[in-house]
Amino acid sequence: MFAIEARKLGYRVHTFSPLTDTPTGQVADVETAASYDDLDSVRTFARSVDVVTFEFENVPAAAVEAAAEFVTVHPRGAILHTTQNRLREKTFLSENGFPVTPFTSIKQLDDLHRGVEELGLPCVLKTAGFGYDGKGQRNISARGEVSGAFEALNGREAILEAFVEFEKEVSVVCARDQDGNFAHYGVIENEHEHHILDVSFAPAIVSEQVFTEAVEIAKSIAETLSFVGTLCVEFFLTGDGKLLVNELAPRPHNSGHLTFDACVTSQFEQQLRAVCGLPLGSTDFYKPAAMANLLGDLWSHGEPNWATALRESSIKLHLYGKSEPRPGRKMGHLSATAENAIAARSAVIDARSRFAKSR
Ligand code: AMP
Repeated sequence: MFAIEARKLGYRVHTFSPLTDTPTGQVADVETAASYDDLDSVRTFARSVDVVTFEFENVPAAAVEAAAEFVTVHPRGAILHTTQNRLREKTFLSENGFPVTPFTSIKQLDDLHRGVEELGLPCVLKTAGFGYDGKGQRNISARGEVSGAFEALNGREAILEAFVEFEKEVSVVCARDQDGNFAHYGVIENEHEHHILDVSFAPAIVSEQVFTEAVEIAKSIAETLSFVGTLCVEFFLTGDGKLLVNELAPRPHNSGHLTFDACVTSQFEQQLRAVCGLPLGSTDFYKPAAMANLLGDLWSHGEPNWATALRESSIKLHLYGKSEPRPGRKMGHLSATAENAIAARSAVIDARSRFAKSR
């Protein structure tokens, strides 16, 4: 989606990733397939472009540094380094006064026993690195589960978090340009299934106070990081109206995919504008909107019948061009706009459910 927006503005796109025929590669002018550890290839790539940005934060720091020898990288490598590790990210947030759930670092079994005593049950154990969509994550609800949960880490560093009894999950997708200007898409409400984002809609149903506070926190995080690009701040909202930051994504985020069809400037165009030194665009919504993810599970009986989802003419279908529809893998999404966010939410959920019924 970034490459599509870049082409619309007349930019050429050169993508680098370990795979071929990637969703970005299918749209880009040049696709380099090489390992992130192949620093010579990273340097050759960097010499061929004017600016580097990311759609995925788990790029090794050494690759980012190698690219930065030759070309500007936005967001900065240090931001990737912080946000690609849950422990570093939560430490950054709490040290800078941003609200997070209590957490502790886990290296040894003793740390986990102590952590469970300190934070109480239930709690959530997550690997520090390479975590997204609930990967490497496990709830602990009884002391008897501690050893098993530690074993499952397989020696990987982890973070233990107090479980948050949240009322809902929301996010703020925002952008900051090279002059420090800030733009945001308000508050988006998110529903997860098995730790994976399922449905998002905007505007979120939250009080004005929560709206203002969520946007202020996102802005302050972007400023503290000297961020340039599109940033997503994911929050838990508790029953008593308290916001806790769960996670940062230093790139366009799945919850902001609805901006592609619903806003004057999408989160992808915003990233493009920010990293290319252009002014940010308007984040106005044409109408309230919703998005429903299409996971690989939908392919269990073969290619879904897209015509059934599109019978409702307001539904927009996005397929990413991923070749292998594995369960839990995000293959695409549906989006819709409507008079209000709940109607848009119903429209995308109904459209998606028509796949199941049409079999
Ligand atoms: P994450 O990969 O950290 O974004 O977690 C994925 C999902 O797991 C979140 O969106 C929440 O639904 C749930 N989750 C993660 N951490 C916690 C927590 N500390 N308390 C309650 N639920 C959590």
